[in-house]
Amino acid sequence: MMVVFMAHTEFTVKTSEKRQIVDITDKVAPLVKGVKDALCTIYIPHTSAAVIINEHEPNLEKDFLDIFEKLVPKAAWRHNKIDNNAEAHLKSSIAGISTSIPVIDGALALGNWQKIMLCEFDGPRTRRVIVMVR
Ligand code: ZN
Repeated sequence: MMVVFMAHTEFTVKTSEKRQIVDITDKVAPLVKGVKDALCTIYIPHTSAAVIINEHEPNLEKDFLDIFEKLVPKAAWRHNKIDNNAEAHLKSSIAGISTSIPVIDGALALGNWQKIMLCEFDGPRTRRVIVMVR
């Protein structure tokens, strides 16, 4: 039995739009190869982006961006007096900046339609993704 524990891995994602959803599943899945039973945490050290797990389908991605827009519309948020991105901060905390997935026999225990997606709310930017498996 081989059990591989690593401290952590980090990669970056370059977003190209102001608001965008990027499927990062293929960057995370290889990091759990050889790990029998563990928990994989995906975390982003950012305050204007998020990480969610859901279906990666183009229309649904637009629906997600629309619902975030409806939940947090452009308004006279106080933070906008400082750097004009309060909406992005608020969406980030509503959606969350980390998620965890069980690892079973070297694979993420994702359902058929589940993908790990980075939500950009204030791009384009280079986003760091930190993955911890233990
Ligand atoms: Zn800000």
